[in-house]
Amino acid sequence: MTLNIPFDNSYARLPNTFFARQAPVPVRAPRLIAFNDDLAQVLGISPGDVQEMAEAFAGNSLPDGAEPIAQLYSGHQFGTYNPQLGDGRAVLLGETVGTDGVRRDIQLKGSGQTPFSRQGDGRAWLGPVLREFVVSEAMHALGIPTTRALAAVETGEVVLREGPMPGAVLTRVAQSHLRVGTFQVFAARRQVENLKQLTEYAIARHYPQAEGPMGLLRAVRDAQAQLIAQWMSVGFIHGVMNTDNFSIAGETIDYGPCAFMDSYHPNTVYSSIDRMGRYAYSNQPDIAVWNLAQLATSLIQQVEDPEKAVEEATEIVHAMPGLIQREWLNRFRAKIGLATEDKEDEALITDLLTRMAHNSADFTNTFRALGNEKARDHFLNPEAYDEWAGGWQARLDREKDPQTVMSTANPAFIPRNHRVEQMIQAAVQGDYAPFHRLNAVLARSYEDQPDATDLTHPPTENEVVHATFCG
Ligand code: AMP
Ligand code: MG
Ligand code: MG
Repeated sequence: MTLNIPFDNSYARLPNTFFARQAPVPVRAPRLIAFNDDLAQVLGISPGDVQEMAEAFAGNSLPDGAEPIAQLYSGHQFGTYNPQLGDGRAVLLGETVGTDGVRRDIQLKGSGQTPFSRQGDGRAWLGPVLREFVVSEAMHALGIPTTRALAAVETGEVVLREGPMPGAVLTRVAQSHLRVGTFQVFAARRQVENLKQLTEYAIARHYPQAEGPMGLLRAVRDAQAQLIAQWMSVGFIHGVMNTDNFSIAGETIDYGPCAFMDSYHPNTVYSSIDRMGRYAYSNQPDIAVWNLAQLATSLIQQVEDPEKAVEEATEIVHAMPGLIQREWLNRFRAKIGLATEDKEDEALITDLLTRMAHNSADFTNTFRALGNEKARDHFLNPEAYDEWAGGWQARLDREKDPQTVMSTANPAFIPRNHRVEQMIQAAVQGDYAPFHRLNAVLARSYEDQPDATDLTHPPTENEVVHATFCG
Protein backbone atom coordinates (compact mmCIF):
# COMPACT_ATOMS: atom_id res chain seq x y z
CA MET A 1 0.00 0.00 0.00
CA THR A 2 1.23 3.44 -0.85
CA LEU A 3 -0.27 6.61 0.50
CA ASN A 4 -1.83 8.63 -2.29
CA ILE A 5 -3.31 12.10 -1.85
CA PRO A 6 -4.78 13.49 -5.09
CA PHE A 7 -3.61 17.07 -4.57
CA ASP A 8 -5.13 19.87 -6.61
CA ASN A 9 -3.69 23.05 -5.13
CA SER A 10 -5.19 26.47 -5.76
CA TYR A 11 -3.93 28.69 -2.94
CA ALA A 12 -0.30 28.05 -3.85
CA ARG A 13 -1.12 29.55 -7.31
CA LEU A 14 -2.01 32.92 -5.76
CA PRO A 15 0.64 35.68 -5.63
CA ASN A 16 3.51 34.83 -3.31
CA THR A 17 2.57 37.76 -1.06
CA PHE A 18 -0.27 35.53 0.22
CA PHE A 19 2.01 32.99 1.90
CA ALA A 20 5.55 31.82 2.51
CA ARG A 21 6.78 28.58 1.00
CA GLN A 22 7.71 26.46 3.98
CA ALA A 23 8.31 22.75 4.33
CA PRO A 24 7.36 21.05 7.58
CA VAL A 25 10.35 20.56 9.88
CA PRO A 26 11.08 16.82 10.35
CA VAL A 27 10.72 15.25 13.78
CA ARG A 28 12.76 12.58 15.52
CA ALA A 29 10.52 9.52 15.79
CA PRO A 30 7.05 9.80 14.28
CA ARG A 31 4.44 7.32 15.41
CA LEU A 32 0.89 7.19 14.06
CA ILE A 33 -1.77 7.62 16.76
CA ALA A 34 -4.87 7.75 14.59
CA PHE A 35 -5.94 7.93 10.99
CA ASN A 36 -9.50 8.82 10.02
CA ASP A 37 -10.40 6.32 7.28
CA ASP A 38 -13.94 7.64 6.74
CA LEU A 39 -12.69 11.15 6.15
CA ALA A 40 -9.84 9.90 3.94
CA GLN A 41 -12.39 8.23 1.73
CA VAL A 42 -14.36 11.47 1.28
CA LEU A 43 -11.11 13.24 0.40
CA GLY A 44 -10.16 10.61 -2.18
CA ILE A 45 -7.05 9.63 -0.22
CA SER A 46 -5.81 6.04 -0.34
CA PRO A 47 -4.04 5.17 2.89
CA GLY A 48 -0.53 3.76 2.97
CA ASP A 49 1.09 1.51 5.54
CA VAL A 50 1.35 2.74 9.09
CA GLN A 51 4.98 3.88 9.05
CA GLU A 52 4.56 5.67 5.74
CA MET A 53 1.58 7.58 7.10
CA ALA A 54 3.44 8.39 10.32
CA GLU A 55 6.25 9.93 8.23
CA ALA A 56 3.86 11.84 5.96
CA PHE A 57 1.60 13.23 8.70
CA ALA A 58 4.56 14.21 10.85
CA GLY A 59 5.98 16.17 7.94
CA ASN A 60 9.08 13.97 7.61
CA SER A 61 8.26 13.01 4.04
CA LEU A 62 6.22 15.06 1.59
CA PRO A 63 3.50 13.17 -0.28
CA ASP A 64 3.64 13.56 -4.07
CA GLY A 65 1.88 16.73 -5.17
CA ALA A 66 2.18 18.57 -1.85
CA GLU A 67 3.26 22.23 -2.06
CA PRO A 68 3.71 23.24 1.57
CA ILE A 69 3.03 26.87 2.46
CA ALA A 70 2.44 28.93 5.59
CA GLN A 71 -0.47 31.31 5.04
CA LEU A 72 -0.33 35.01 5.87
CA TYR A 73 -3.04 36.66 7.94
CA SER A 74 -3.46 39.18 10.73
CA GLY A 75 -6.28 39.71 13.18
CA HIS A 76 -7.83 41.23 16.27
CA GLN A 77 -6.81 39.25 19.34
CA PHE A 78 -9.16 40.05 22.24
CA GLY A 79 -10.12 43.24 20.43
CA THR A 80 -6.59 44.49 19.74
CA TYR A 81 -5.29 44.51 16.19
CA ASN A 82 -2.12 42.50 15.59
CA PRO A 83 -0.80 43.47 12.15
CA GLN A 84 0.84 40.14 11.43
CA LEU A 85 -0.01 36.66 12.61
CA GLY A 86 0.00 33.93 9.97
CA ASP A 87 0.58 30.19 10.28
CA GLY A 88 3.23 30.10 12.99
CA ARG A 89 3.04 26.39 13.60
CA ALA A 90 1.11 25.04 10.66
CA VAL A 91 1.68 24.38 6.99
CA LEU A 92 -0.88 23.82 4.30
CA LEU A 93 0.23 20.74 2.34
CA GLY A 94 -2.31 21.38 -0.39
CA GLU A 95 -5.92 20.74 -1.34
CA THR A 96 -8.00 17.87 -2.65
CA VAL A 97 -11.37 17.91 -4.36
CA GLY A 98 -13.29 15.18 -2.58
CA THR A 99 -15.66 12.54 -3.89
CA ASP A 100 -18.42 14.98 -2.88
CA GLY A 101 -16.95 17.65 -5.18
CA VAL A 102 -15.86 19.85 -2.25
CA ARG A 103 -12.36 21.36 -2.24
CA ARG A 104 -10.63 21.04 1.11
CA ASP A 105 -7.33 22.06 2.66
CA ILE A 106 -5.02 19.49 4.22
CA GLN A 107 -2.93 21.17 6.88
CA LEU A 108 -0.34 19.97 9.38
CA LYS A 109 -0.55 21.71 12.75
CA GLY A 110 2.48 21.58 15.04
CA SER A 111 4.83 21.03 12.10
CA GLY A 112 7.63 23.39 13.11
CA GLN A 113 8.61 27.02 12.78
CA THR A 114 7.69 29.23 9.83
CA PRO A 115 8.46 32.85 8.95
CA PHE A 116 5.32 33.72 10.99
CA SER A 117 6.31 31.96 14.21
CA ARG A 118 7.29 35.15 16.07
CA GLN A 119 8.40 33.88 19.53
CA GLY A 120 6.79 30.45 19.16
CA ASP A 121 8.44 27.06 18.77
CA GLY A 122 6.15 26.02 15.91
CA ARG A 123 5.12 22.91 17.80
CA ALA A 124 2.08 21.47 19.54
CA TRP A 125 1.93 19.05 22.41
CA LEU A 126 -0.11 15.91 22.58
CA GLY A 127 -2.91 17.33 24.76
CA PRO A 128 -4.24 20.00 22.38
CA VAL A 129 -3.75 17.70 19.39
CA LEU A 130 -5.92 14.98 20.90
CA ARG A 131 -8.40 17.55 22.21
CA GLU A 132 -8.84 19.05 18.74
CA PHE A 133 -9.10 15.57 17.19
CA VAL A 134 -11.85 14.49 19.57
CA VAL A 135 -13.76 17.76 19.77
CA SER A 136 -13.72 18.57 16.05
CA GLU A 137 -14.87 15.07 15.11
CA ALA A 138 -17.56 15.29 17.81
CA MET A 139 -18.74 18.60 16.35
CA HIS A 140 -18.98 16.94 12.95
CA ALA A 141 -21.05 14.11 14.40
CA LEU A 142 -23.30 16.71 16.04
CA GLY A 143 -23.97 18.13 12.57
CA ILE A 144 -22.06 21.37 13.16
CA PRO A 145 -19.80 22.78 10.41
CA THR A 146 -16.21 22.28 11.48
CA THR A 147 -12.68 21.53 10.44
CA ARG A 148 -11.97 17.82 10.79
CA ALA A 149 -9.16 15.59 11.95
CA LEU A 150 -7.50 13.30 9.41
CA ALA A 151 -4.53 12.08 11.42
CA ALA A 152 -2.56 12.49 14.63
CA VAL A 153 1.05 11.49 15.18
CA GLU A 154 3.44 11.58 18.10
CA THR A 155 6.74 13.21 17.20
CA GLY A 156 9.02 11.46 19.69
CA GLU A 157 10.20 14.93 20.71
CA VAL A 158 9.66 16.95 23.85
CA VAL A 159 7.76 20.25 23.73
CA LEU A 160 8.21 22.69 26.59
CA ARG A 161 4.97 24.14 27.98
CA GLU A 162 4.18 24.25 31.70
CA GLY A 163 6.69 21.40 31.79
CA PRO A 164 8.17 18.96 29.26
CA MET A 165 5.32 17.46 27.21
CA PRO A 166 5.23 14.89 24.40
CA GLY A 167 5.08 16.56 20.99
CA ALA A 168 2.43 15.77 18.38
CA VAL A 169 1.18 16.88 14.97
CA LEU A 170 -2.46 17.08 13.91
CA THR A 171 -3.53 16.84 10.28
CA ARG A 172 -6.62 18.93 9.92
CA VAL A 173 -8.98 19.37 7.06
CA ALA A 174 -10.99 22.52 6.33
CA GLN A 175 -13.14 23.83 3.51
CA SER A 176 -10.44 26.49 3.58
CA HIS A 177 -8.32 28.32 6.12
CA LEU A 178 -9.48 31.73 4.90
CA ARG A 179 -10.23 33.88 7.92
CA VAL A 180 -11.44 37.40 8.53
CA GLY A 181 -7.79 38.05 9.32
CA THR A 182 -6.76 37.00 5.80
CA PHE A 183 -8.73 40.00 4.50
CA GLN A 184 -7.61 42.26 7.31
CA VAL A 185 -3.93 41.92 6.54
CA PHE A 186 -4.29 43.19 2.96
CA ALA A 187 -6.81 45.89 3.92
CA ALA A 188 -4.57 47.22 6.68
CA ARG A 189 -1.64 47.34 4.26
CA ARG A 190 -3.78 49.01 1.59
CA GLN A 191 -2.87 46.21 -0.84
CA VAL A 192 -6.03 46.64 -2.89
CA GLU A 193 -5.07 44.29 -5.73
CA ASN A 194 -4.40 41.48 -3.28
CA LEU A 195 -7.65 42.23 -1.51
CA LYS A 196 -9.59 42.05 -4.78
CA GLN A 197 -7.93 38.80 -5.74
CA LEU A 198 -8.60 37.27 -2.32
CA THR A 199 -12.25 38.34 -2.55
CA GLU A 200 -12.64 36.71 -5.97
CA TYR A 201 -10.90 33.59 -4.71
CA ALA A 202 -13.17 33.32 -1.66
CA ILE A 203 -16.31 33.82 -3.73
CA ALA A 204 -15.28 31.23 -6.33
CA ARG A 205 -14.33 28.70 -3.68
CA HIS A 206 -17.15 29.11 -1.16
CA TYR A 207 -20.01 31.22 -2.44
CA PRO A 208 -20.05 31.14 -6.26
CA GLN A 209 -23.54 32.68 -6.29
CA ALA A 210 -22.37 35.75 -4.31
CA GLU A 211 -21.86 39.02 -6.18
CA GLY A 212 -18.92 41.21 -5.27
CA PRO A 213 -17.49 42.10 -1.88
CA MET A 214 -20.89 42.91 -0.35
CA GLY A 215 -22.30 39.64 -1.68
CA LEU A 216 -19.45 37.83 0.03
CA LEU A 217 -20.10 39.72 3.26
CA ARG A 218 -23.75 38.70 3.18
CA ALA A 219 -22.87 35.04 2.51
CA VAL A 220 -20.33 34.89 5.35
CA ARG A 221 -22.86 36.55 7.66
CA ASP A 222 -25.50 33.93 6.87
CA ALA A 223 -23.08 31.02 7.34
CA GLN A 224 -21.74 32.41 10.61
CA ALA A 225 -25.23 33.17 11.94
CA GLN A 226 -26.12 29.51 11.43
CA LEU A 227 -22.87 28.37 13.02
CA ILE A 228 -23.15 30.50 16.15
CA ALA A 229 -26.74 29.37 16.72
CA GLN A 230 -25.56 25.77 16.42
CA TRP A 231 -22.79 26.35 18.96
CA MET A 232 -25.31 27.85 21.38
CA SER A 233 -27.66 24.93 20.91
CA VAL A 234 -25.12 22.38 22.18
CA GLY A 235 -23.53 24.56 24.88
CA PHE A 236 -20.26 25.01 22.98
CA ILE A 237 -17.88 27.79 23.95
CA HIS A 238 -15.17 28.43 21.36
CA GLY A 239 -13.00 30.37 23.78
CA VAL A 240 -10.89 32.43 21.33
CA MET A 241 -13.19 34.12 18.82
CA ASN A 242 -10.41 36.37 17.55
CA THR A 243 -10.87 37.54 13.96
CA ASP A 244 -8.05 35.23 12.85
CA ASN A 245 -10.09 32.29 14.16
CA PHE A 246 -13.28 33.28 12.32
CA SER A 247 -13.70 31.22 9.17
CA ILE A 248 -14.91 32.66 5.88
CA ALA A 249 -16.37 29.24 5.04
CA GLY A 250 -18.45 29.34 8.23
CA GLU A 251 -16.77 26.40 9.92
CA THR A 252 -15.69 26.04 13.53
CA ILE A 253 -11.93 26.53 13.31
CA ASP A 254 -8.86 26.80 15.54
CA TYR A 255 -9.86 24.75 18.52
CA GLY A 256 -7.91 26.03 21.47
CA PRO A 257 -9.33 26.35 24.97
CA CYS A 258 -12.81 25.46 23.73
CA ALA A 259 -15.25 23.64 25.98
CA PHE A 260 -18.78 22.34 26.29
CA MET A 261 -20.72 23.54 29.31
CA ASP A 262 -21.72 21.09 31.96
CA SER A 263 -24.18 22.97 34.20
CA TYR A 264 -25.82 25.83 32.37
CA HIS A 265 -24.87 29.40 33.03
CA PRO A 266 -24.83 32.14 30.38
CA ASN A 267 -21.62 33.71 31.71
CA THR A 268 -19.58 30.52 31.52
CA VAL A 269 -15.93 30.94 30.54
CA TYR A 270 -13.30 28.19 30.60
CA SER A 271 -10.36 29.68 28.75
CA SER A 272 -7.54 30.60 31.09
CA ILE A 273 -6.57 33.56 28.88
CA ASP A 274 -10.10 35.06 28.66
CA ARG A 275 -9.87 36.98 31.92
CA MET A 276 -12.55 39.54 31.04
CA GLY A 277 -15.04 36.98 29.75
CA ARG A 278 -15.05 38.55 26.30
CA TYR A 279 -15.74 35.13 24.78
CA ALA A 280 -18.18 33.85 27.41
CA TYR A 281 -20.95 31.53 26.19
CA SER A 282 -23.65 34.18 25.92
CA ASN A 283 -21.34 36.79 24.34
CA GLN A 284 -20.68 34.65 21.28
CA PRO A 285 -23.47 36.14 19.13
CA ASP A 286 -22.31 39.71 19.84
CA ILE A 287 -18.70 38.80 19.11
CA ALA A 288 -19.67 37.20 15.81
CA VAL A 289 -21.30 40.48 14.79
CA TRP A 290 -18.21 42.41 15.89
CA ASN A 291 -16.04 40.09 13.81
CA LEU A 292 -18.30 40.48 10.80
CA ALA A 293 -17.97 44.26 11.15
CA GLN A 294 -14.19 43.83 10.88
CA LEU A 295 -14.66 41.83 7.69
CA ALA A 296 -16.95 44.57 6.35
CA THR A 297 -14.36 47.25 7.13
CA SER A 298 -11.71 45.26 5.28
CA LEU A 299 -13.83 44.43 2.24
CA ILE A 300 -14.84 48.08 1.79
CA GLN A 301 -11.21 49.07 1.09
CA GLN A 302 -11.58 47.73 -2.44
CA VAL A 303 -14.87 49.28 -3.60
CA GLU A 304 -15.14 52.24 -5.93
CA ASP A 305 -18.08 53.96 -4.27
CA PRO A 306 -17.28 53.63 -0.55
CA GLU A 307 -20.25 55.73 0.54
CA LYS A 308 -22.73 53.37 -1.04
CA ALA A 309 -20.78 50.32 0.16
CA VAL A 310 -20.69 51.60 3.74
CA GLU A 311 -24.43 51.95 3.63
CA GLU A 312 -24.87 48.44 2.28
CA ALA A 313 -22.32 46.91 4.66
CA THR A 314 -24.01 48.62 7.60
CA GLU A 315 -27.34 47.15 6.59
CA ILE A 316 -25.78 43.68 6.21
CA VAL A 317 -24.01 43.78 9.59
CA HIS A 318 -27.01 45.29 11.40
CA ALA A 319 -29.19 42.41 10.22
CA MET A 320 -26.89 39.81 11.76
CA PRO A 321 -28.16 39.88 15.38
CA GLY A 322 -31.70 39.26 14.14
CA LEU A 323 -30.54 36.38 11.95
CA ILE A 324 -28.64 34.72 14.79
CA GLN A 325 -31.66 35.18 17.04
CA ARG A 326 -33.94 33.59 14.45
CA GLU A 327 -31.61 30.59 14.03
CA TRP A 328 -31.21 30.37 17.79
CA LEU A 329 -34.97 30.29 18.25
CA ASN A 330 -35.37 27.56 15.62
CA ARG A 331 -32.71 25.43 17.29
CA PHE A 332 -34.09 25.88 20.79
CA ARG A 333 -37.66 25.34 19.65
CA ALA A 334 -36.54 21.93 18.41
CA LYS A 335 -34.76 21.29 21.70
CA ILE A 336 -38.07 21.56 23.55
CA GLY A 337 -39.91 19.57 20.90
CA LEU A 338 -41.58 22.33 18.91
CA ALA A 339 -41.88 22.04 15.14
CA THR A 340 -44.46 24.82 14.82
CA GLU A 341 -44.05 28.49 15.74
CA ASP A 342 -45.81 30.55 18.34
CA LYS A 343 -45.18 34.09 19.59
CA GLU A 344 -44.74 32.84 23.14
CA ASP A 345 -42.04 30.26 22.31
CA GLU A 346 -39.12 32.54 22.99
CA ALA A 347 -40.40 33.39 26.46
CA LEU A 348 -40.98 29.71 27.16
CA ILE A 349 -37.39 28.86 26.18
CA THR A 350 -35.74 31.69 28.09
CA ASP A 351 -37.83 30.86 31.15
CA LEU A 352 -36.47 27.30 31.06
CA LEU A 353 -32.90 28.53 30.62
CA THR A 354 -33.22 30.96 33.52
CA ARG A 355 -34.51 28.20 35.75
CA MET A 356 -31.66 25.93 34.60
CA ALA A 357 -29.10 28.62 35.43
CA HIS A 358 -30.57 29.16 38.92
CA ASN A 359 -30.63 25.41 39.56
CA SER A 360 -27.22 24.34 38.20
CA ALA A 361 -28.95 22.09 35.69
CA ASP A 362 -26.69 20.19 33.35
CA PHE A 363 -27.22 21.66 29.87
CA THR A 364 -26.95 18.47 27.82
CA ASN A 365 -28.66 16.08 30.22
CA THR A 366 -31.57 18.38 31.02
CA PHE A 367 -32.55 18.80 27.38
CA ARG A 368 -31.97 15.11 26.66
CA ALA A 369 -34.25 14.22 29.59
CA LEU A 370 -37.13 16.52 28.58
CA GLY A 371 -40.14 14.38 27.96
CA ASN A 372 -39.35 11.81 30.62
CA GLU A 373 -39.99 12.17 34.33
CA LYS A 374 -36.30 12.48 35.04
CA ALA A 375 -35.86 16.01 33.71
CA ARG A 376 -36.88 17.51 37.05
CA ASP A 377 -34.09 15.58 38.82
CA HIS A 378 -31.51 17.74 37.08
CA PHE A 379 -32.69 20.83 38.99
CA LEU A 380 -31.42 21.62 42.49
CA ASN A 381 -35.01 22.53 43.23
CA PRO A 382 -37.12 20.19 41.07
CA GLU A 383 -40.19 22.36 41.60
CA ALA A 384 -38.52 25.06 39.52
CA TYR A 385 -38.82 22.61 36.64
CA ASP A 386 -42.39 21.62 37.49
CA GLU A 387 -43.49 25.27 37.42
CA TRP A 388 -42.18 25.53 33.89
CA ALA A 389 -43.32 22.14 32.65
CA GLY A 390 -47.05 22.87 33.04
CA GLY A 391 -47.02 25.62 30.42
CA TRP A 392 -44.73 23.57 28.23
CA GLN A 393 -47.09 20.56 28.28
CA ALA A 394 -49.96 22.80 27.22
CA ARG A 395 -47.86 24.09 24.33
CA LEU A 396 -46.90 20.52 23.31
CA ASP A 397 -50.56 19.61 22.86
CA ARG A 398 -50.36 21.43 19.52
CA GLU A 399 -47.37 19.37 18.33
CA LYS A 400 -47.48 16.14 16.31
CA ASP A 401 -44.30 14.31 17.30
CA PRO A 402 -42.25 16.24 19.86
CA GLN A 403 -40.27 13.17 20.97
CA THR A 404 -38.72 12.73 17.56
CA VAL A 405 -38.02 16.44 17.23
CA MET A 406 -36.24 16.45 20.58
CA SER A 407 -34.25 13.27 20.05
CA THR A 408 -32.64 14.71 16.93
CA ALA A 409 -31.99 18.13 18.52
CA ASN A 410 -30.64 17.04 21.91
CA PRO A 411 -27.48 14.92 21.88
CA ALA A 412 -26.88 12.31 24.56
CA PHE A 413 -23.11 12.69 24.27
CA ILE A 414 -20.83 15.70 24.13
CA PRO A 415 -17.07 15.73 24.77
CA ARG A 416 -17.18 16.69 28.41
CA ASN A 417 -14.14 18.58 29.67
CA HIS A 418 -13.28 16.19 32.46
CA ARG A 419 -13.41 13.24 30.05
CA VAL A 420 -11.22 15.05 27.57
CA GLU A 421 -8.72 15.85 30.35
CA GLN A 422 -8.75 12.25 31.61
CA MET A 423 -8.24 11.04 28.04
CA ILE A 424 -5.22 13.33 27.64
CA GLN A 425 -3.70 12.21 30.94
CA ALA A 426 -4.05 8.57 29.92
CA ALA A 427 -2.49 9.24 26.50
CA VAL A 428 0.49 10.98 28.10
CA GLN A 429 0.99 7.72 30.04
CA GLY A 430 0.82 5.81 26.75
CA ASP A 431 -2.77 4.58 27.12
CA TYR A 432 -4.82 5.53 24.06
CA ALA A 433 -7.87 3.42 24.90
CA PRO A 434 -9.87 6.40 26.30
CA PHE A 435 -9.04 8.43 23.17
CA HIS A 436 -10.36 5.72 20.84
CA ARG A 437 -13.39 5.08 23.02
CA LEU A 438 -14.33 8.78 23.13
CA ASN A 439 -14.09 8.98 19.35
CA ALA A 440 -16.23 5.89 18.87
CA VAL A 441 -18.96 7.00 21.28
CA LEU A 442 -19.06 10.64 20.15
CA ALA A 443 -19.42 9.56 16.51
CA ARG A 444 -22.97 8.52 17.48
CA SER A 445 -23.82 11.43 19.76
CA TYR A 446 -27.61 11.34 19.27
CA GLU A 447 -27.94 7.62 20.03
CA ASP A 448 -28.48 6.16 23.47
CA GLN A 449 -25.50 3.91 24.13
CA PRO A 450 -26.17 1.85 27.26
CA ASP A 451 -22.54 0.74 27.58
CA ALA A 452 -21.33 4.35 27.66
CA THR A 453 -23.61 5.99 30.24
CA ASP A 454 -20.49 6.91 32.27
CA LEU A 455 -19.67 9.41 29.50
CA THR A 456 -23.00 11.20 30.05
CA HIS A 457 -22.28 11.96 33.70
CA PRO A 458 -21.40 15.51 34.70
CA PRO A 459 -18.07 15.80 36.52
CA THR A 460 -17.88 15.03 40.21
CA GLU A 461 -16.54 17.82 42.43
CA ASN A 462 -13.00 16.47 42.03
CA GLU A 463 -13.31 16.07 38.28
CA VAL A 464 -14.52 19.58 37.43
CA VAL A 465 -12.26 21.33 34.92
CA HIS A 466 -12.11 25.01 35.86
CA ALA A 467 -9.83 26.28 33.12
CA THR A 468 -8.74 25.22 29.66
CA PHE A 469 -5.49 26.18 27.96
CA CYS A 470 -4.29 27.04 24.48
CA GLY A 471 -1.45 24.54 24.22
P1 AMP B 1 -4.11 30.70 17.99
O1 AMP B 1 -4.37 31.41 19.25
O2 AMP B 1 -3.77 29.25 18.17
O3 AMP B 1 -5.19 30.91 16.99
O4 AMP B 1 -2.78 31.32 17.36
C1 AMP B 1 -2.56 32.69 17.20
C2 AMP B 1 -1.27 32.90 16.47
O5 AMP B 1 -0.15 32.42 17.22
C3 AMP B 1 -1.17 32.22 15.13
O6 AMP B 1 -0.44 33.05 14.28
C4 AMP B 1 -0.43 30.97 15.45
O7 AMP B 1 0.23 30.42 14.32
C5 AMP B 1 0.59 31.46 16.48
N1 AMP B 1 1.06 30.39 17.35
C6 AMP B 1 0.38 29.76 18.34
N2 AMP B 1 1.16 28.85 18.95
C7 AMP B 1 2.36 28.88 18.33
C8 AMP B 1 3.59 28.16 18.51
N3 AMP B 1 3.76 27.22 19.44
N4 AMP B 1 4.62 28.49 17.68
C9 AMP B 1 4.49 29.43 16.75
N5 AMP B 1 3.37 30.13 16.54
C10 AMP B 1 2.30 29.87 17.32
MG1 MG C 1 -5.73 30.93 15.18
MG1 MG D 1 -4.31 28.17 16.10
